[in-house]
Amino acid sequence: MAKTPETEHPVKAFGYAATDTSGSFSPFKFSRRATGETDVQLKVLYCGVCHSDLHMAKNEWGFTQYPLVPGHEIVGYVPHQVVTEVGSKVEKVKVGDKVGVGVLVGSCRQCDQCTNDLENYCPKQIQTYGFPYLDGTINRGGYSNIMVADEHFIIRWPDNFPLDAGGPLLCAGITTYSPLRYFGLDKPGLRIGINGLGGLGHVAVKFAKAFGTKVTVISTSLSKKKEAIERLGVDEFLVSRDPEQMQAAVGTLDGIIDTVSASHPVVPLLSLLKPNGKLIVVGAPEAPLQLPVFTLIQGRKTIAGSGIGGMKETQEMIDFAAKNNILADVEVIPIDYINTAMDRLLKSDVKYRFVIDVENSLKPE
Ligand code: NAP
Ligand code: ZN
Repeated sequence: MAKTPETEHPVKAFGYAATDTSGSFSPFKFSRRATGETDVQLKVLYCGVCHSDLHMAKNEWGFTQYPLVPGHEIVGYVPHQVVTEVGSKVEKVKVGDKVGVGVLVGSCRQCDQCTNDLENYCPKQIQTYGFPYLDGTINRGGYSNIMVADEHFIIRWPDNFPLDAGGPLLCAGITTYSPLRYFGLDKPGLRIGINGLGGLGHVAVKFAKAFGTKVTVISTSLSKKKEAIERLGVDEFLVSRDPEQMQAAVGTLDGIIDTVSASHPVVPLLSLLKPNGKLIVVGAPEAPLQLPVFTLIQGRKTIAGSGIGGMKETQEMIDFAAKNNILADVEVIPIDYINTAMDRLLKSDVKYRFVIDVENSLKPE
């Protein structure tokens, strides 16, 4: 008999899955592999809701395989016994540790990218959900009760660092921290723009401020202005749909991290850059962005992309965040709220990250 998600592995698991392009979630039974020699099995306590989960649930990028159990901002913790099972060769963590799993659970570990701590650019990278694992079965993410991952892809959790508000850093955090560092946009005094004040955008603001830069938020939501300035410490807030405000800020920024999840014009962003300025795209809209080249040519500007970060840098980012008290601003939700949460995420109606309280709300059917 053909194996089903419930029978393909020995360890019973359950969670929430999207089953078609409506992106609607419902309870789902499946299974996890037995804990291998270098694996860590963890009990999932919280899982952040990334806009990538929404893109994937609706098959907006065109490669979703249903049923899809998303979730790649996963933290596990059980008082006195967090890691429920560790393989015999695991050295990084022990039973009792708090751990995180982000966007990656595998890579070839041999190519130039992998040997330079850039597993995120390995051509054979394996993402946490919706990708085939080494055994050919499809990975399932953190909208579920338990998780298993090779220890190389496990993040050690700093002592006393909150799990609910820290979890989103495993994707939103590293995706913004990495380009700020790599592209030299982390120098005190630089003027950095953050386009889109959502899950990624608001932690980008926090890292950019921690690096000592001056931060301009570029947003479609005037309603986010007061809080952005008063609470997040944003230095300037531009409403992107206000041409006068945008015109007044032309040529003021050294770099922009563009986190917007939907198709949007690029020229107004390039216009905000100083000569030699850099526009770094991390948002991943389903439709291509248009790139009229003259704004790029005039001023020798750069446009580049960036995807999450390698494991070493992800650990560095979490440790930096713990030291500098950087957390996501979260709305903690029960898992049966996920369909409403996705509707609200689509409308940019969340400040600024939904996090599922998996432990307290996901019960076996
Ligand atoms: P999010 O919380 O929904 O934030 C996106 C923000 O973009 C919204 O809050 C909104 O900010 C702005 N926005 C939405 N629709 C817009 C539109 N039509 N025009 C202009 N601005 C709009 O999403 P997220 O979780 O931060 O993820 C953002 C994007 O990054 C997604 O596409 C996701 O897939 C991608 N991503 C990429 C990576 C990577 O490795 N590169 C990793 C994670 C996520 P305002 O209200 O301020 O306008
Ligand atoms: Zn993500």
